[in-house]
Amino acid sequence: MVNTGRNLAMIHCGGPSSVMAGTGRALDALRAAGYAPEQVDTMVLTHIHPEHALGLSHDGTTRNFPNAEVVLTRTDHQFWTDPAMESRVPQGQPFIQAARRAAGPYGGRVRPVEMREGLEVIPGVFMSPAPGHTPGHVSYRLTSQNQSMLIWGDIAHQMVIQLARPRWRVGVDVDSATGVESRVRTLTMLAEEGLLMDGVHVPWPGFGRVIRDGEGFLYVPRPLRFA
Ligand SMILES: [Zn+2]
Ligand SMILES: [Zn+2]
Repeated sequence: MVNTGRNLAMIHCGGPSSVMAGTGRALDALRAAGYAPEQVDTMVLTHIHPEHALGLSHDGTTRNFPNAEVVLTRTDHQFWTDPAMESRVPQGQPFIQAARRAAGPYGGRVRPVEMREGLEVIPGVFMSPAPGHTPGHVSYRLTSQNQSMLIWGDIAHQMVIQLARPRWRVGVDVDSATGVESRVRTLTMLAEEGLLMDGVHVPWPGFGRVIRDGEGFLYVPRPLRFA
């Protein structure tokens, strides 16, 4: 959740419990944090895979975030919703159907945006294109009071193997060669800048830094402090 003072945004909303083990708790977690889904005005998606986006709607017709605008790249929106895609990626049918169920109830509230480095989608949230996992996959850099962090989306799904061997191709990437380039570029940037990162498929606590380790990289979780 990102509170810019003007926007109350979420980056991803998870998926329902049927998607994979551990999903389906975003709405409960949101309420436990003291917010109502009606307060969320922007849902920023790095891409439109089920475990990131299907929580937009539990039934494909009702908006779980009734007042939210959904921000995603035009490239990803087209890829997953264009009828012409069905015949071109027959193996992607479950993902195509899921993307339509997620975005459908939002109609004109979906804001497809250009895929461009540095595009500020809401104040302080800047796009960094990272295609390959999906054609329109992007990361987002959050900046506030001279501090930054990167929400990297699905740059990696397995934090030991994929960081140690960043050039290994990944079966879940739509274009795995381009995915490798985006992964190496992102990991290199994080290690060089010492930037805090957060990912979706990242072990507890989900926040950390990336350092160089031989020919690859290593994830260093950031210890959580409880006030
Ligand atoms: Zn994904
Ligand atoms: Zn994912």
